[in-house]
Amino acid sequence: MKKAMQFNTAVIHGGQSPDPAYGAVMPPIYQTSTYAQSTPGGHKGFEYSRTHNPTRSALENAFASIEGGAFGLAFASGLAAMDAVMKLLQPGDEVISTNDLYGGSYRLFTKIFEPFGIRFRFIDLQQADQLEEHISAATRLIWVETPTNPMMQVVDIAAIARQAKAHNVLLAVDNTFASSYVQNPLALGADIVMHSATKYLAGHSDVVLGALVVNDEELDERLRFIQNASGAVPGPMDSFLTLRGIKTLHVRMQRHCENAAAIANYLAKHPAIEKVYWPGFESHPNHEVAKTQMNGFGGMLSFIPKGADYSKAIRIVEHLELFTLAESLGGVESLAGHPASMTHASIPKEIREKSGVVDSLIRLSVGIEDVRDLIQDLEQALSA
Ligand SMILES: *Cc1c(COP(=O)(O)O)cnc(C)c1O
Repeated sequence: MKKAMQFNTAVIHGGQSPDPAYGAVMPPIYQTSTYAQSTPGGHKGFEYSRTHNPTRSALENAFASIEGGAFGLAFASGLAAMDAVMKLLQPGDEVISTNDLYGGSYRLFTKIFEPFGIRFRFIDLQQADQLEEHISAATRLIWVETPTNPMMQVVDIAAIARQAKAHNVLLAVDNTFASSYVQNPLALGADIVMHSATKYLAGHSDVVLGALVVNDEELDERLRFIQNASGAVPGPMDSFLTLRGIKTLHVRMQRHCENAAAIANYLAKHPAIEKVYWPGFESHPNHEVAKTQMNGFGGMLSFIPKGADYSKAIRIVEHLELFTLAESLGGVESLAGHPASMTHASIPKEIREKSGVVDSLIRLSVGIEDVRDLIQDLEQALSA
């Protein structure tokens, strides 16, 4: 099933059809664990909800559609989706990943899978040609995040994909920060796309859910086996909420991108700001790659206030009124975070600072409010 519709149509109709029972336009919340059989094995395609649930299936079809992939899989969280990908591997296998990684991903790799004998190398993938020297006979998977969290580094997906293919290594891309509106890694040569749908896809900060999308049928079968055998599936209510969120993904993302661009430019000119990290700036080291592989520059940015330390950064985020101080991102409301003490606290300070996550760094998830109010809020917090 290739992407047959334009993106703005696919978010609403992709993989969806009215419910066969009563023609409900939105798939009902099939709040059931099991399904009646007329004779052993005589069922309508559904036996048990860990394996299949019609609400979840509708969501999985939507995931596939918006990423232009053949198969979508839904999980109980973004990390549960990643966990399923890691279970494709065996002890002794090696994974290459980016050194500026979501804290929870780093924790999953090093605290859960390293003890099982899987080896990880964290390298700077901004220079795609540096990958080659790190690939060994044991390398099975390359795990890329782009743009990265929170340094907004951009990795050239197509360039990494070419090298991965040449060495017969799988390439998985965490597409959470960009969202499917901004970037479609499968089209750039990736094998697996992963989302924390908790963020932009669901988009309303009311659900925790994860997604995988692939094109290869055998890979889909293996992942679907793990999904059922390990069992980290989302319930029908959360599947429904995520599906509803996806239907406005395109209009939300347009505004997220616009507002983030306005705020990035405001901060860059502000006398109290040292540095702004946003891939839309021409001065961003990977701006050219961002321009080719992204449709807009997303709703995330980070900045360092001039002369700030740990406590000054915390004072600024505490003074914000419209931006809520919170973990997470990608909801309609604007959020601010202090990575060193929040999202990235689980990464040791020396490792964290090596990739630029200093104590004074502040991260913004720019929402879809009126940008004039957001700028006013930043102005008062910076001068407080
Ligand atoms: C939030 C997040 C995850 C983890 O997803 P959960 O839904 O919280 O499990 C993974 N990667 C990135 C980039 C994230 O922002």
